[in-house]
Amino acid sequence: MSKLGSMSLTEYKKKRRFKKTPEPAPEKKSSEFGNIFVVQKHRATQLHYDFRLEADGVLLSWAVPKGPSMDPNVKRLAMHVEDHPVDYAKFEGVIPEGEYGGGTVMVWDTGIYGPENTTSVSKAVAKGSFVLVRTRDRQWLLIKHRDKYAKEGEDITETQPYSVLTKRTLAEIAEDEGGDVKKAATGDPKRLLRRRDIKRRKKTSKKQVWHSKPR
Ligand code: MN
Repeated sequence: MSKLGSMSLTEYKKKRRFKKTPEPAPEKKSSEFGNIFVVQKHRATQLHYDFRLEADGVLLSWAVPKGPSMDPNVKRLAMHVEDHPVDYAKFEGVIPEGEYGGGTVMVWDTGIYGPENTTSVSKAVAKGSFVLVRTRDRQWLLIKHRDKYAKEGEDITETQPYSVLTKRTLAEIAEDEGGDVKKAATGDPKRLLRRRDIKRRKKTSKKQVWHSKPR
């Protein structure tokens, strides 16, 4: 495990075959902001959420099996995993079956983050603050702080199942990018709320990466 504060993308590179996967190359660099975060919903072998924070040219990463909760009473297990390249924050698409992490990836939330008590940054963080507490080795807990955004009893993985970039469901991403639609659909809610401005890829157009400015 890389130490927090001295990152490398060696483990990221070792796990992947970049001729097979559309995931970003293991390149170290900073974003325009230097402090972006992303949460990706990932229907791999198991559905999980990947929580990533930019630091020193990489994204520190945790796999959160149940995803974040807005309820401060709920502690969500977060396993520290290998650092990812900063470009990964824009990755939404399909990792081919048989490759590492094979399945559909959705950009579920993205933006910038900052330390607490820094008003300029905390104002920009629409869901308020979370804390990551290390319990042992790679094992952490992700907990919502008690602030004005906290909501007891709310499971945002249920109420907000769409891509923040394209408004697509996992099944729609899989369909557009040539993935396993049935498998992806098991990560979507059974009933979908009405959405506006969904960005579907036209059948004839090339695969593309959707770009968004962190909000
Ligand atoms: Mn993952």
